[in-house]
Amino acid sequence: MNKKIELLAPAGDLERAKVAIRFGANAVYLGGKRFSLRSRASNFDICDIKDACDYAREYGAHIHVTINIIPHDEDFDGLEDYLKELDEAGVTAVIVASPTIIQTVKKVAPRLEVHLSTQMSTTNLKAIDYYKRLGVDRIVFARECNLEEVSMISKNSTVPTEAFIHGGMCVNYSGRCTLSNAMTLRDANRGGCAQSCRWKYHLIQDGKEMSQEDRLFSMSSKDLMAIEFLYDLMDSNVASLKIEGRMKSAYYIASVVHTYRKAIDEISETEKPLSEERLKYYANELSKAENRPTSIGFYRGLPTHHAHLYGINGAGVTHDFVGVVMNYDQELKIAKVQVRNVFAIGYELEVFGPHIDNQSFVVEMIKNSDGEYIELANQPMTIVEVNMPFQVEPQDLIRRK
Ligand code: SF4
Repeated sequence: MNKKIELLAPAGDLERAKVAIRFGANAVYLGGKRFSLRSRASNFDICDIKDACDYAREYGAHIHVTINIIPHDEDFDGLEDYLKELDEAGVTAVIVASPTIIQTVKKVAPRLEVHLSTQMSTTNLKAIDYYKRLGVDRIVFARECNLEEVSMISKNSTVPTEAFIHGGMCVNYSGRCTLSNAMTLRDANRGGCAQSCRWKYHLIQDGKEMSQEDRLFSMSSKDLMAIEFLYDLMDSNVASLKIEGRMKSAYYIASVVHTYRKAIDEISETEKPLSEERLKYYANELSKAENRPTSIGFYRGLPTHHAHLYGINGAGVTHDFVGVVMNYDQELKIAKVQVRNVFAIGYELEVFGPHIDNQSFVVEMIKNSDGEYIELANQPMTIVEVNMPFQVEPQDLIRRK
């Protein structure tokens, strides 16, 4: 069993990278402003990437950078200098989807590991051997692989493997999609996806409207949630478990990373699959992040219509993120909290953090920054004092059902 399996989390900016690491990610992947899919979601310039690497080093974690565009000739300008900068910044690996970029990394920044993006649809051992000869150090599985394939390939692969465990799915699973290009002239394979598959469409057959006005047709996939396969993935020698979601919030990342961290640690300790009861517990914890409805992707074979969202497109939010702990006075049992969403006297809130199990309390006192007692905290980013009957730490997060 791979007890040291890497938990790999996404981040769209430095704050989210730090949250992921603090909540237990072993590595974070992020994209710069160029050469990356989801480049519109990225706020990382090279200084931020260096800061992320420095922060990661303090926790023994690693930073991976996506350079996973399908490049056209003009896209190579500045690539060599960028790779050298990443190397100097302390980046561990780049995630790549182009043979030319693989060879360029090996030539100009050979210390960087090359991880082959899921965009390259790797589904067999022969492909892995081929890419290994090109210099690839890890492959990310195509999402179309089932559990048996992931397991067999990981046990026999000549390079470490990485599999998706959670997060959004493209309806074109390995992502070779030109829907966005066709509909918006934004190239999904060069970082510009407009998420056209998740729009709402009129469904027309033989000139007749098949959809109802209030329930238009969408092509969106449900999100992946593969917690029930965690033991098998760890037992199959998979090197890394990837969470999707560079556009997701810090709260989402904290909730999902925290849950998988605890589940991995539990399996490592017991060396047994999670019981039904524990699986339910972890699935419930994951549902507190703002997921869309979830499915198991391809892990048990071809997804059926149950894995798609034909009529709804909203997030299945069960909890709201309401605040961040800034500090805690142990004697007075009062926490300073940065408000992110409304809460009031009488609300039951739950705190979670890297070093505490989820704990709930009822709000009995709120004091604003002028020292006035208030009934309602509804000014985002202001600091209030709140009663807190148990020990919390700065940067722990607070949510409400
Ligand atoms: S339009 Fe949808 S399926 Fe296509 S790349 Fe974008 S998210 Fe993926």
